[in-house]
Amino acid sequence: MSGSVLEVDLDLLANNLARVGAAVAPAELMLVVKNDAYGHGVEAVVARAQREGVRWFGAFDLATGARVRRVTGADARIFVWIADTPDQVAAAIDLDLDIGVGDRRLLAEVAARGGSPRPARVHLKIDTGLRRNGVRPEEWPEFVAAAATAERAGNLVVEGIWSHIAEASDEDDDIARGRFEDALRAAEAAGLRPRWRHLAASAAAFARPEFRYDFARVGAFCYGIRPAGGPDEAALGVRPIARWVAPVLEVADDVVRIGVGARDGLFRSLATHARVATPGGLRRLLVVSGATSDVVSWPGAVVGDHVTVYGDPERDEETATSLAEMIGSIGEEVAVRVSPLVPRRYRGLR
Ligand SMILES: *Cc1c(COP(=O)(O)O)cnc(C)c1O
Repeated sequence: MSGSVLEVDLDLLANNLARVGAAVAPAELMLVVKNDAYGHGVEAVVARAQREGVRWFGAFDLATGARVRRVTGADARIFVWIADTPDQVAAAIDLDLDIGVGDRRLLAEVAARGGSPRPARVHLKIDTGLRRNGVRPEEWPEFVAAAATAERAGNLVVEGIWSHIAEASDEDDDIARGRFEDALRAAEAAGLRPRWRHLAASAAAFARPEFRYDFARVGAFCYGIRPAGGPDEAALGVRPIARWVAPVLEVADDVVRIGVGARDGLFRSLATHARVATPGGLRRLLVVSGATSDVVSWPGAVVGDHVTVYGDPERDEETATSLAEMIGSIGEEVAVRVSPLVPRRYRGLR
């Protein structure tokens, strides 16, 4: 192992949650914790968020949903939107998860499994244009009719109607929202009265009130990851909760070798672009190799010094997003690549 550590500040998470919660109010905040809470560690993040009053968690898959449920106990609502096999559906109902359903086959599966001991909680997904999954508008009336039948039979409860949007252009998002409104009307005509309508993730929820509905599913901003090419952290009122710190392993000739490399999750393409924060100031990263990375030396560098690969923009350090911008990626992609073998060290764990 290279010896790098991801320091995660849960007090900063709490601040971000308060900020995001206030920004999307009166809509509720669903904290998205897929990909091990964007690399920060599901268990610690969920435990703290629950203490901060977060009641909804977006877990993506069943495995993550089960991890969240172990932390929260019965109180929290946990939304999964990838439950494919009959076994996964049965497990999701067993764990009292809210299940995103975006096709007829899955609806039939959930209806067949739900009812005993309890009806399945489902959120019906309309495809508003992303074509990732979700029911196409032309098939929606038949879909909501089938869901209403299953609801009347006591096999499931339609808790929500939802969709996911690109958040790449306002025009496309407006078109998607129009389709979403149509879908809500059709669901109502079919006799459904879902409590939770949800459409937006971080960007649209912040910028566009009419996209918030009953809750906003927010990941990135809660972790202080700003959008590539978008407003900065100060404008958003959030701060990155993680700092990736790596030790100096070797000082030789003009090169200092630090312990963070491709194997631990840094993109090789960042070499020569990224700067790391060293005790001698910002220094350019020259090579990202398998196990270690090389930076130019600074006067007096010694083995045991530490450098920051990404951290706090207020301290002029790179962030997951500023690194991502150098290679045409997004901050989330940088954050989730930090290897699970890199230890997470928490502040504010209580
Ligand atoms: C990842 C994800 C989100 C959260 O997106 P952010 O931009 O990180 O806030 C919300 N909804 C769905 C369906 C997602 O997959």
